[in-house]
Amino acid sequence: MRRASKPNIVTGPVQICWKKFARYFDVEIREVPLAGDALGLKPQDLRRYCDENTIGVVATLGVTFTGIYEPVEALARELDAIERDLGLDIPIHVDAASGGFIAPFIQRDLVWDFQIKRVRSINASGHKYGLAPLGVGWVIWASKADLPEELIFYVDYLGGNMPTFALNFSRPGGEIIAQYYNFLRLGREGYTAIQAACSDTAQWLGQKLAALGCFEMIYDGHGGLPAVAYKLVDGHHGFTLYDLSERVRMHGWQIASYPLPSNRQETIVQRILIRHGVSHDLAQLLLDDIKRAIEHLTKNPVPNSMAKPGFHHG
Ligand SMILES: *Cc1c(COP(=O)(O)O)cnc(C)c1O
Repeated sequence: MRRASKPNIVTGPVQICWKKFARYFDVEIREVPLAGDALGLKPQDLRRYCDENTIGVVATLGVTFTGIYEPVEALARELDAIERDLGLDIPIHVDAASGGFIAPFIQRDLVWDFQIKRVRSINASGHKYGLAPLGVGWVIWASKADLPEELIFYVDYLGGNMPTFALNFSRPGGEIIAQYYNFLRLGREGYTAIQAACSDTAQWLGQKLAALGCFEMIYDGHGGLPAVAYKLVDGHHGFTLYDLSERVRMHGWQIASYPLPSNRQETIVQRILIRHGVSHDLAQLLLDDIKRAIEHLTKNPVPNSMAKPGFHHG
């Protein structure tokens, strides 16, 4: 017998927390595979994957694998059309774990937040580009009505009445103080200066890596996170990106190589994120080490990569 249908969410290539959410809350996750040269969810994907059980579309501002932003406004427009044609009113949650602390400062013309009516909730990670030194995550709802009243517990506790919305009870408050300290200390001006510097460094690094000739930039640092993502240009190099990862690791750099999510697993990429503390000087040192690693690997080809040019780790 078929199980009664359950709620589903429609997403692009999401961070692992969404799979965890789907499993724990018994929600079906419909992760739209990447088609052609896509790096994220596209408006034209939505009609095929949304139905009357879709409780939301997740748009990611700063996709984990590449750093790009999914087009929230265009996705919302397509959902408007779907509502017009099929009567399905599907809200958007924006996973702005990284982009939530970037876009408001250096991409101020980008419309991705509650300016779009369909966006009902947003999460952002304080410990990423929020610059908080302790782990802290934020979620905000567009209106009070978007957080169902029955999820809020009004706790009459030791003489005080306290509304709580959480899975566990006591939590430390230090991380919130650490985050608020940054808000007050840096202000909009400080965050803007820091994120703009990171973004400049990422774009500079992207340009330099592209000029080496052996990389094809997948994301060059423009329009999304202060980051770059790239693959080896097609053809024979005598080494893979996995070999390059290993080689720069000897100089203390941890740059992972990994396949793009389905359906683009044949494309192996590396990603470099620039966050506060990675100065232009440090990026220059990284570039020098990458250059040295490539020179070494070119002079000393890795046998495995020649025998199996298409080889990649599953
Ligand atoms: C890091 C990240 C998360 C998880 O956030 P945490 O604050 O680390 O729990 C979710 N989504 C995206 C896109 C992320 O980059």
